[in-house]
Parts: sequence; structure tokens; C-alpha cells
Amino acid sequence: MSIVLPCYNEEDVLRETHSRLIGVIGSDRSAEYEVLYVDDGSVDGTWSVIQEFAAREPSVRALRFGRNFGHQAGCLAGLREAVGDAVVIIDADLQDPPELIPEMVSLWRQGWPVVSARRSGREGEGYFKKLSAFAYYRILKAISDHPVALDTGDFRLLDRNVVDLLTGLGDNELFLRGAISWAGFPETAVEYQRGSRASGESKYTLRKMLALSRRGIISGSAVPLRAPAYLGLVSLAGAGGIAVSRRDPKAAMTAAMFGFQTLAIGVLGEYLRGVFRYVEDRPAYVISERTASVPTADSSPVPAVEEVA
Ligand code: UDP
Ligand code: MG
Repeated sequence: MSIVLPCYNEEDVLRETHSRLIGVIGSDRSAEYEVLYVDDGSVDGTWSVIQEFAAREPSVRALRFGRNFGHQAGCLAGLREAVGDAVVIIDADLQDPPELIPEMVSLWRQGWPVVSARRSGREGEGYFKKLSAFAYYRILKAISDHPVALDTGDFRLLDRNVVDLLTGLGDNELFLRGAISWAGFPETAVEYQRGSRASGESKYTLRKMLALSRRGIISGSAVPLRAPAYLGLVSLAGAGGIAVSRRDPKAAMTAAMFGFQTLAIGVLGEYLRGVFRYVEDRPAYVISERTASVPTADSSPVPAVEEVA
């Protein structure tokens, strides 16, 4: 098992996080663990604290970014670097309790390739964060081609197959939760109450939160690009209505002009979506399982019909 912890300026909480994490995985004799810290360009003492852990414990490894590249980049780096049969991504501030890991591992052993942690409550978070997260997840679900599970973040366990698929996508702007739901592996969840961070302030500034939300919408939904086309069609229908019912050619022309222009933007959007899909270059499908009897490329050929008879 690999445990990935992206950290940005977490000097204050890291010792507590580490000892709680080690407490949990140290008492689990059923698996071998590696702990992988990704220092996302911290400017406090985070890196020296991590180095201390790595010097003391052979199961601890760490990477350090040259500057702050963001939490999603940290997760991606961790996934690329991890060697476990499964990888758990967890926040460094103890808002994601490490005590859930054994339960997630046992669900993975039962055959679930993705085990997410669903927040059944957000006790420790401010009103604005709660409301914006509540609204955002629901909007994203409504407009996405492949909806992200409600109220889940990046605290997840991913099977090796899922990790290999995600890191093989070559997507440098990966929106992890979106890509996981796009891949569509069977997913289950454990529930937890999200408490407040053990120490320090949120490292997700409003700007970073908006950037993440934008990334989620752009990579997961065509609705914003298509919206002008729908608006244009409605305007054209309105123009027709005005022309017939009010016999007001001037008003009808104005509505029609607006309709044509917005429709044209919508058509451009549709082509842009095509280009986006092409550049994104995702595989056409993802295979999550095979039966044992399906011949693979390197197995012996299927016997000819005569031989079978
Ligand atoms: N984080 C990171 N890079 C950033 C911002 C945050 O690696 O630019 C890490 C942070 O150290 C923590 C996790 O991402 O381990 C979640 O961040 P935070 O707890 O600040 O976000 P919140 O829980 O408030 O959404
Ligand atoms: Mg947090």
C-alpha cells in the first residue's frame, strides 16, 4: 500500500499527522506500507520535517516541487511515484482521518478498485466553504458527462489498475475526481465526519478553489460551450414568434440577429469541444475486468473449428 500526502506549508501539523498515520498503519500487519510525502513547494519548514521522517523510517519517501504547483499536481506526482498495489491519497492536515485507511483497504480486498471517503458532515468548516462545496458538487453533477460522486474529495483508495490508467493519460491538468469518474471503475465509499484542520489555515485559497472548480467544469462538461447554441435557438424561435404575433419586423430582426450571433458562437463551441476531445486524447474506452477465458494477445490461438469437432 502506498499512502500519498500532498503538503503545502504544513509544518505545524505534520508531526501529529505522521504519528497518527504511523500509529494506524503500524498496527496493520496485513499489508506493507510506504508513505510518500509530496512537498508542493512549501516555504516553511515542511521539507525539513519530512526529511526527518525519511531519515528515521525506511518506509517514508518524499518529493519536493521547485515551487507551488498545486494540490492536484501533488496528487499526480504521488500517483506516478507510488509503487503499491493500491494507493491512498490523503490530506496532510488530519481533516481526512487516517483511521479510515484500514476500512478502505479491506473494501479494496473485497474487490473494489476505487474506495472514496464521503463527507457526511463538515463540522469543522466555515459557512462559506460548506455552502460553496454543497452547491458546486451538485452543479457539477448536473452538467457533467460523467458525474463525480457527491461530497467526495481526493481522499480515496485507488487500485493499481486505476493508478496506471490515470498516470498513463498524459493529462497534465488532471482533475483527479473527474478522471476517476470518467474511467468508471466500480466505486464504493466509506462515510466520515469532516472535522476541522488540526492546525494552521486552509492552503486552498479562494483563487485556488476557483481554479479547481473551473478545471472540473471545463474537463467534465460541454454545457458552458453549448449554452450559446441553445440560447441562439431560443432567440430565433422568439424572433419568429414576434414576427407572427406582433407583426413587428424591427423587433423580430433584432431578436433574429442576436439569435444568429449566439448560435454561431455555440457552433464554434461545438467545434472547440471536438478539438478539446482530440487534444485530450483519452482512450475510447476503459476495460475494468475480463473473464479468465478471454484469450489475450500472447496466449495460444483458439483451436480451429475442425479440431474442436
Ligand atoms: N495542498 C497542496 N498544495 C496547495 C494547497 C494545498 O499540496 O497548493 C495540500 C495541503 O497541504 C493539504 C491538502 O492539499 O494536505 C488540502 O489542502 P487544505 O487542507 O488547505 O484544503 P481544504 O481542506 O481547506 O480544502
Ligand atoms: Mg484541509
